[in-house]
Amino acid sequence: MSFDSLGLEAELLRAVREQGYDEPTPVQREAIPAILAGRDLLAGAQTGTGKTAAFALPLLQRLAAAGPSQGKRRVRALILTPTRELAAQVAASVQTYGQHLSLRSTVIFGGVGINPQISALHRGVDVVVATPGRLLDHASQQTVNLSNVETLILDEADRMLDMGFLRDIRRILSLLPKQRQNLLFSATYAPEIRQLANQLLDDPVSVQVAPRNATAERVDQLVFPLDKGRKREFLSHMIGQRNWRQVLVFTRTKHGANRLVQQLERDGLSALAIHGNKSQGARTRALAGFKNGTVRVLVATDIAARGLDIDQLPHVVNYELPNVPEDYVHRIGRTGRAGREGQAVSLVCAEETDYLRGIERLIKRDIPQEVVAGYEPVTPLGKAVQLGRPGSGPRRPAGNSNRRRRGRSGARRAAS
Ligand code: AMP
Repeated sequence: MSFDSLGLEAELLRAVREQGYDEPTPVQREAIPAILAGRDLLAGAQTGTGKTAAFALPLLQRLAAAGPSQGKRRVRALILTPTRELAAQVAASVQTYGQHLSLRSTVIFGGVGINPQISALHRGVDVVVATPGRLLDHASQQTVNLSNVETLILDEADRMLDMGFLRDIRRILSLLPKQRQNLLFSATYAPEIRQLANQLLDDPVSVQVAPRNATAERVDQLVFPLDKGRKREFLSHMIGQRNWRQVLVFTRTKHGANRLVQQLERDGLSALAIHGNKSQGARTRALAGFKNGTVRVLVATDIAARGLDIDQLPHVVNYELPNVPEDYVHRIGRTGRAGREGQAVSLVCAEETDYLRGIERLIKRDIPQEVVAGYEPVTPLGKAVQLGRPGSGPRRPAGNSNRRRRGRSGARRAAS
């Protein structure tokens, strides 16, 4: 299927071609015609599925179809995102896809000066991409007028609720006209999301694209069973020995992220941490260094990594497994997107066996394991903990041979 059959106008098709997209992704195939038809939409789609183009392309088309505004431009579309980074990324996509149309957009988020935002709003824009807090600041100062919004998009709605934005979202909803199109994108469907969807959406079209790890074999997943105390040494060894560049490493805590960065630096690897205690400036600098290659290893917590535009990565490392299995899906969604190969590896110690099981249950498959010579765990996975799940059967111990594997993905490269 090609983009031409989705009902998009020439200016948008041209922008899509210039991006090098050959065919629409599944979420784009389903969402674009529904949005063009003016329907509300509930989409289960995570980062990496092409969800941004799925809403931005039809949104821009509908705005452009109405013709040039008479007088000053009014805010006709509002896109809310949980993080500043995601807001910036979505705004850039809106700009890119709309480059052959004469619409204007702007991005609004906190942590930076408010005056340039006020000026941009004052000049008039058709599309606002915003994080909730700063948008409400503008609303209370009356520097934004939301009374003409025709389309509302909640991007990564689950993240917004996780980050405590529900009240802000409700306040924003109260500023919008009742009659409008609503699009809700969420990677997961917690009960709170369903409730929000029920209140917000009118007879929505539902689109569900499977999490990438459940479908795409592009993400090569691998578990390295290890003793806890040897993870740091192993990570440095693998980065050096396999010549990994641009490695995004996840830890569970901010403190753990800082400590790991210090240790990696001592091993001669350029590393930076990105987490909630870092200022916006420090986060932006870390991200820029990571993208331009001066920082080889970026160590992040789940919260800090949300919405970061760093998701065409060759290597994602789970230094510790998340205790929420869905976070694993988000983490590995950072790699192997849109036709590229990626690898997600997890360093798993015996104490994390239950987390691993939870993840494997969620993604409905076993992740292959590889024991690397010299790093054989003293305590194999599944041995140190009470599993407490009757009938689940013992995990085969890794043993102390050089390599032993399990899982369905067949032969893998040799560990050396
Ligand atoms: P997201 O919108 O965050 O899911 O991003 C998806 C990524 O895939 C972005 O880097 C897009 O540039 C890219 N992308 C989006 N749609 C397509 C497509 N149809 N074909 C190839 N790449 C795409």
